[in-house]
Amino acid sequence: MDPQPVDVVVIGAGQAGLSAAHHLQRRGFLPISRAVGGDRSFVVLDANSAPGGAWQHRWESLRMATVNGIHELPGFPVPPADPAAASRDILPRYFAEYEERFALDVKRPVVVRSVRREDDDLAGRLLVETDRGAWAARYVVNATGTWTRPFWPHYPGQERFRGRQLHVADYVSADDFAGRRVVIVGAGVSALQLLDEISHVADTFWVTRREPQWIEDDFDIPARVAAIAGVEARVREGLPPGSVISVTGMHWTPWARAAQSRGVLVRHPMFSTIEEDGVRMPDGTFEPADVILWATGFRAAIDHLAPLRLRTRQGGIRVADGRALDEPRLFLIGYGPSQSTVGANRAGREAVRAIVADLADPSEAAA
Ligand SMILES: Cc1cc2nc3c(=O)[nH]c(=O)nc-3n(C[C@H](O)[C@H](O)[C@H](O)COP(=O)(O)OP(=O)(O)OC[C@H]3O[C@@H](n4cnc5c(N)ncnc54)[C@H](O)[C@@H]3O)c2cc1C
Repeated sequence: MDPQPVDVVVIGAGQAGLSAAHHLQRRGFLPISRAVGGDRSFVVLDANSAPGGAWQHRWESLRMATVNGIHELPGFPVPPADPAAASRDILPRYFAEYEERFALDVKRPVVVRSVRREDDDLAGRLLVETDRGAWAARYVVNATGTWTRPFWPHYPGQERFRGRQLHVADYVSADDFAGRRVVIVGAGVSALQLLDEISHVADTFWVTRREPQWIEDDFDIPARVAAIAGVEARVREGLPPGSVISVTGMHWTPWARAAQSRGVLVRHPMFSTIEEDGVRMPDGTFEPADVILWATGFRAAIDHLAPLRLRTRQGGIRVADGRALDEPRLFLIGYGPSQSTVGANRAGREAVRAIVADLADPSEAAA
């Protein structure tokens, strides 16, 4: 079957993708199912079978009160929610209502397998190939997040471990570890939240590669702005976005303070090898473990963009203001500096603004 022509394909219906869809609609684009004749059109493709982006998969103890702060989707407030409610219940319901209210007609489950250039014409179309047909788009807005790319570093002996290894993406509840010895790896917000939580029911042993640089101030607005500017500079140069922590150092979160006050915020250096029943430390001592929890972050889910050959030698894609510098028909939002709910919202708006500006200036517009 021939690819279906459409002006804009949005890949992903999380915060970033829905923000882009909202702004497309505000600027006069219609979902492809309702577009006729000369209407400008878009389609949102999402791999999940239900609305909610990554929120539907997050662990239950990530409550509305314990998320880092959720920014509402554009044009529709998050309904008041019990702070004790699980974000994975509240937010997917909110996303579903949002899609319905604005009639965004998200196509799901549709997995995008690849994005490639239709031909050598730089003003030609991008082919978006999925498990349910193909689209020929003038622009692609990639909003695929990171949840599907949990990052597991490799350590020698990993495959010999007889206990359980899991990534935070697979974490369900601390109850699974009651009475066990749990090694927690990582220095991010998730590591600290789960260290605090698991240490109530299990013996925890926390390891990080580098000694955390604790910053006494809370993670306030100037600190956030500085962090975002740091990540922005990285992606402009084509470096992998990296975590916010890598740019800012560690800020005190409520969980870090709780763990500290209970005496469980005790950092150890990273182990050197993994053995059948535990981990070997750099000084040669052995630490027994029943579980290793990798709180080692996520990478951008962009493998489907590989045919565009945009990866730099450093492993990233050169992106400025949400647009791929080496492929102006492609936007990456919720990527790098816009990897937050507020950043995703803004990036959606800015991507659409740039597309509209291109189309208004035919010398810039893709055919
Ligand atoms: C544990 C955790 C907690 C967080 N808490 C906060 C917080 O409190 N506040 C905050 O601002 N940020 C938080 N973040 C950052 C958060 O990821 C973003 O704020 C936001 O939810 C990401 O939205 P997104 O649209 O970029 O991605 P997602 O919500 O991940 O949506 C991406 C969508 O793309 C789809 N997709 C992926 N690949 C494909 C494909 N090949 N084809 C089709 N569809 C595809 C997925 O199915 C998914 O629906 C947190 C992140 C993590 C990991």
